[in-house]
Amino acid sequence: MKNFTRLACFSLCFILSLSAWAQKDPQGVKGPNGLVRCLTTEMDTELSNRYPEQTISKEEFEEWLAPKIEEFKVNQALTSLQQPVLTIPVVIHIIHDGDPINVAGGELSENISYAQAVSQVDVLNEDFRRLMGTPGAGETNYNAGVDVEIEFCLATQDPNGAASNGVNRVNLCQESWSTADIDGIVKPETIWDPTKYMNMWSVNFTDSSLLGYAQFPNSSGLGGLNTNNGPADTDGVVSNYNAFGTLAQDDGSFILNNTYNLGRTMTHEVGHYLGLRHIWGDGACSVDDFCDDTPNSDGANFGCAMDSSCGSMDMSENYMDYSDDSCMNTFTEDQKTRMLTVMMNSPRRMELPTSIGCSAGTASTNDIEVRLTCFTENICEVGFSPGIEIINKGTAAVTEATITYSVNGDAAQTYEYTGNLNQFDIASINLPSVDGINGNNTVNVSVTDVNGTTDEVASNNLDSDEYIYANDGDITEYNATTYFLELVTDDYGSETTYEVTDASGNVLYEGGPYEDNTTINDEFTVENNECFQFTIFDAFGDGICCGYGDGSYSLTTGDGTVVIEGGQFEDSESVAFRANQSLSVKENAFANFAIYPNPADNVLNISLNNTNELPETVKVFNTLGQAVVTKSVTNSSDLNVNVSSLQKGIYFVRIENETTSGVVKFVKN
Ligand SMILES: [Zn+2]
Repeated sequence: MKNFTRLACFSLCFILSLSAWAQKDPQGVKGPNGLVRCLTTEMDTELSNRYPEQTISKEEFEEWLAPKIEEFKVNQALTSLQQPVLTIPVVIHIIHDGDPINVAGGELSENISYAQAVSQVDVLNEDFRRLMGTPGAGETNYNAGVDVEIEFCLATQDPNGAASNGVNRVNLCQESWSTADIDGIVKPETIWDPTKYMNMWSVNFTDSSLLGYAQFPNSSGLGGLNTNNGPADTDGVVSNYNAFGTLAQDDGSFILNNTYNLGRTMTHEVGHYLGLRHIWGDGACSVDDFCDDTPNSDGANFGCAMDSSCGSMDMSENYMDYSDDSCMNTFTEDQKTRMLTVMMNSPRRMELPTSIGCSAGTASTNDIEVRLTCFTENICEVGFSPGIEIINKGTAAVTEATITYSVNGDAAQTYEYTGNLNQFDIASINLPSVDGINGNNTVNVSVTDVNGTTDEVASNNLDSDEYIYANDGDITEYNATTYFLELVTDDYGSETTYEVTDASGNVLYEGGPYEDNTTINDEFTVENNECFQFTIFDAFGDGICCGYGDGSYSLTTGDGTVVIEGGQFEDSESVAFRANQSLSVKENAFANFAIYPNPADNVLNISLNNTNELPETVKVFNTLGQAVVTKSVTNSSDLNVNVSSLQKGIYFVRIENETTSGVVKFVKN
């Protein structure tokens, strides 16, 4: 069954406004290993295009910053006092789709371990303070590395003042995210007050070649310019989950990229967040990064390059180049001045050193925070299951809790949680299916009792959300049990997949990804009088037509009746339908044959309702539609199939002769 995030409306609204300008996420510069080190500059251009009224150009920003840098230098020269070290409170948002939290020896996913997440903060401190033992901090081309005198602390209180472990783990019920949806959905949904915390996100990028991106700081007080209200809720730094943290602290639970595994993706992105540009200025020799002590360069360096350009050795060891993690170790004096100037003057930066984000938060004994996550649709009737997360914010382990929920103001239902949640642990729960309506549904959920006593903090006991349910319960019925898919891919066939699921969400058939601009013809046979869902996906979220090739798809019955067709969609498009084949007397011969045992271990027996007519063949198909067993039938003693060699899973047995056929699903143990 397909999960839909709680953000159904948000997502839709966003897509409607987004579609006006973006068909594809910005594409970064790929290095020799096929990975995109950083997408900050491209995303900055994207933001400017999106909010032309609200964002300032690179030139305007530099015009604003330059005199402030001069002022900073003058003040520094005048005073012999040491500049105090500035500390930035950090919150780490781990975005996942419900996978278990990574543990040593377990299956590893984007739901990274706490140890991996917080190891990133240590890397930032090592790199920005140029601490002893910082990987790579040895001999370099220029030996120009300095202590930036900015450091980072993991938040110990959340925006409500409650105690926090600095990690906000959120199930958004989607495995991977485009940059457009990260800025449009993930960040606004999860961000903590950006004037109190530097927000860091660990996500699974849909574009798996991308490592990270940041949002540049803003200026303020520029005549005729707004102060950037839009991008406030996208401010921060993002990296792919496998570039977050450092291998140096791996306790077996870490999942890291082979090359970029020392946490320098985030060191680089935080450099951008504090106003640094790439050292080649994103241009040729004449383009500057506004730092005099980073020699001009004509482009990014990859690997551990020792190259010259523009008449000098490149400073490939600079964190703002694209070198491998192990070959970076330098922020220069001018980069430091630039970052400190931004820290003192830029909105959502200058407030950070005085934030109370790293002061101890209040911890109650019995306190649960509840939030709605995603809704699971029941495809065959009007109903859905609300998904929730409960987080133990109290100091006492939670062994039981009472959760109350209601839809559209109907009578409240109660769910009793039992388990064992330590402080800051999270439990994901799918509440039992509720009746809904076709259209907008308001879902309310609340926690009342914790450990048999009243929850002490009322402010985090409620959550409410709108869920758009687009199903009137009238599932279209088709006079067919065999369906035909014709799929023509666009210029990005690798983004296209599909699946056919039954009413319980089991995947019966699936296909893709595919080659570009190719035609696929698949055939599915399903059980009669059952309900199914066909879904086509585009991993990039821009459908299979019309900007990047002319893809299309159609699902039809044998007589050409169209179940669904199209090509212009976003992330996915689906249809639920019921197979309701009315059978002729002759077809009835094979319509409702029986099989036993089911599940089957070795031999599957076939029992016909009408033994006057025998099939000519018995075939077994796997869920990819491939015939894995074919057997000829000459007399009734042939009505069995040896399935002992098949792998465990779902299969279909089809009996057929020239004029008729019948299909039954079975499970191989
Ligand atoms: Zn960058």
